Amino acid sequence: MAEPFIVLSAITREYPSGEGTIAVLKDIDLTIGAGEMVAIIGASGSGKSTLMNILGCLDRPTAGSYRLEGREVSTLGPDELAQLRREHFGFIFQRYHLLAELTALGNVEIPAIYAGTAQSRRRDRAAALLARLGMTERAAHRPGQLSGGQQQRVSIARALMNDARVILADEPTGALDSHSGEEVLRVLDELHGEGRTVVIVTHDKSIAGRADRIVEIRDGVIVSDETAGGRGRRSGGAVAPVAATRGSGVISGLLNRSREAFRMAVLAMKAHQLRTFLTMLGIIIGIASVVSVVALGQGSQQRVLANIASLGTNTLQIFAGTSFGDTRSGRITSLVVDDADALARQPYVAAVTPTVSASVVARFGAAEANAQVSGVGEQYFEATGMRLLQGRFFDAEAVRRMSQEAVIDESARDALFPDRAMDPIGRTVLFGKVPLRVVGVAETQRSGPGGNQNLTIHAPYTTVQTRLIGSLSLQSITVKVADDVDTGLAENAVTQFMTRRHATKDFFIVNSDDIRQTITSTTQTMQVLIAAIAIISLLVGGIGVMNIMLVSVSERVSEIGVRMAVGARQGDIMQQFLIEAVLVCLIGGFLGVVAALGFGAIFSLFSSSFSFVYSTASIVASFLCSSLIGVVFGYLPARNASQLDPVVALSKG
Ligand code: ADP
Ligand code: MG
Repeated sequence: MAEPFIVLSAITREYPSGEGTIAVLKDIDLTIGAGEMVAIIGASGSGKSTLMNILGCLDRPTAGSYRLEGREVSTLGPDELAQLRREHFGFIFQRYHLLAELTALGNVEIPAIYAGTAQSRRRDRAAALLARLGMTERAAHRPGQLSGGQQQRVSIARALMNDARVILADEPTGALDSHSGEEVLRVLDELHGEGRTVVIVTHDKSIAGRADRIVEIRDGVIVSDETAGGRGRRSGGAVAPVAATRGSGVISGLLNRSREAFRMAVLAMKAHQLRTFLTMLGIIIGIASVVSVVALGQGSQQRVLANIASLGTNTLQIFAGTSFGDTRSGRITSLVVDDADALARQPYVAAVTPTVSASVVARFGAAEANAQVSGVGEQYFEATGMRLLQGRFFDAEAVRRMSQEAVIDESARDALFPDRAMDPIGRTVLFGKVPLRVVGVAETQRSGPGGNQNLTIHAPYTTVQTRLIGSLSLQSITVKVADDVDTGLAENAVTQFMTRRHATKDFFIVNSDDIRQTITSTTQTMQVLIAAIAIISLLVGGIGVMNIMLVSVSERVSEIGVRMAVGARQGDIMQQFLIEAVLVCLIGGFLGVVAALGFGAIFSLFSSSFSFVYSTASIVASFLCSSLIGVVFGYLPARNASQLDPVVALSKG
C-alpha cells in the first residue's frame, strides 16, 4: 500500500525559554490521507497553530520526521519549503492576512506571481476564483473596504490560486459573525468535496463536527483522534473547480516576479510619499552637488583655458629682467629687435614678434579713453591666433616703413566710436600726439578674470618705438614654437640661445603651456576636493536610505510573512526591497541631476562670464553611482527582510 499523503512521526517543536526550552509539541504522530477533512481542536495555547504551521511547511519541527507524499520535508531549506507552500498548500488565517495596498484581485494573484504564471492567465484565474466566491463586484476593492467575511473569501480565493491540494485553515471563522462563518465553512466543505485535503483548526466543537475526523490536542499532545464517518466525500458543490495554471517559462516567470517586485516597490513608495521624499533628499543633494561641482569646475576651467588660448598656443614670451617683480625690468634695455630676428631663424620657431607698449590717451572727436598701445610685429596676429572682425591686420611692409596704422579691439571701437553707424576703418585716431589710421577691428582678448580696463590697440612695433616711446629696446618677444616641437624643449633651446647671445641670463620666459597646465591641474585639484565632499554627502544620503529601508522592513514584517506563506522565495523578498532602495536612489539621482541643471540655468542668469558645462559622463556616472548606493545600502535591509522566519513574521500581523 502506498504511504499516506501526510505522515508526521514523533514531531517535537520546542521554543527557547529563559535558560532552557519549552516543548509546545511533544512527540506528535499524525497521518492524514489525501482528500481527508480533519478538524484539529484544543484549548487556546495547546499547540494547534504550531502544528498547522509545521503541516504547511511554514515552520520546521525541532525533532521528528514529516513525510509529504513519501518525501522527507522536515530538513528542507527555506526555498524548498517555499516551493512546497507554493505548490501544495493554501493557507487561510483567522485574521485573513491580506495586503492592504492591493485590491482583492491583486491579493488573490500573489501566489501565482511567485509561481511564475503569466499575467493574463493570472488575472483570469483570480477573477474566476473571486466569481466563484461571489466576490466579482468587490474585486477592485481594497481589504479595508471589505467586511470580515468578504476578506476571508478573498483569502480563500488566494489559497486556491495555485490549485493547492491541501487547504490549511487556522480558525477561519474565529473573527467572523455566525452567518459569514457559515459561508466560509460551506466553501471549505465544497473544497473537500472537490477532493482537496482540508485541515481546519478550531476550538468550536460544532464546527469540528462538520469534519470526517476530529483530532484533539492538549498541551502539545494528541489526546484523541476520532473518525466520525458517514459524511464521506461528496461530488463538487454548486461551483465547478477552476482549472489550475502552472508557471510558464522560467525566464518569463522571472520577469513576472521582477515586475511584481517593481510594482510593490512603487506602491510602498506611494504609500509613504513624504518619508520617501525625505529619504531621497540626501541623494538629491549629493547628486546635485556632485554634478554641479563638476560642471562649475569644467565651466571655469574652459573659461580660463580660453583666456590662455588668447595668449596663443605653444607660445613663449621672453621678458627682460629676472622675473615679473624685477624693479629694474623697465630700465633693462637688453632685449632688442636683433634678438627677435635671430630667434626667427631658429628651426624650432614658427613665428616671432617683438613687443613694446605705451600707455597713452586715445582721442577721436569727442571720445577720449586710456589706451594701451602694443607695438608688435606682423607675425603677432598669427602667433596669438587673434581673430579679425573687420578690415585687415598690418603687414611686414607696414612694420618696415613704420606706418601709422593701428588694429583696435572691440572695446576700443565701442569707446572711440560710440556711433554704431560709423565705420571705424580708415578713421584716424590720435594716440597721445601721434595720429594712427585704423585698419582693422579684432576680437577683444581677455587677459584673465577682471580683464584689462585699458583699450588695447596694436600698431607696428617700429611705429611705437620711434613715434610713441623713442627707444629701440623691447619689452618682450613672443615666440610661436613650430607645431611639431615640444614647447618645453623649445623653451630650453631659447634659454640657451639667448643666454649665449647676451652672455648672461638677463631675461625670463613665460611658457603658455606651463600656465595652462598649472591652471588645469589647480582646477582639477579643486574639483576633486569639492567632489570628495559631495561624495561624502552622497554617502550620508545612502546611510539615510539604509535607515529608512530598515524601518520600512520592520513596518512590513507581516506583509513579508504573508508573501512567504504563499510561497515567496527569500530571493523574491530580497529583490522587492532592493528594487525599492535602488528606485529611491535612482529617482533621487534623477531629481539631483535636474536640480543641478536648474542651478546652471539660474547661475547663467546672474553670471555672463562663464557657465556650467555639463558632461554626459558625470551625469551617467551619477546615475550609476545612485544605483550603486541603492544596492549597497539597500542590501542589508533587504537581506534582513528575506531572512525573516515566516511564522515569526506572520505573528507580527
Ligand atoms: P494555539 O494555536 O493552540 O492557541 P499555539 O500553537 O499558537 O497555540 O501556541 C502554543 C504554545 O506555544 C503557546 O503556549 C505559545 O505561547 C507558545 N508559542 C507559540 N509561538 C511561540 C514562539 N515563537 N516562541 C515561544 N513560544 C511560542
Ligand atoms: Mg492558534
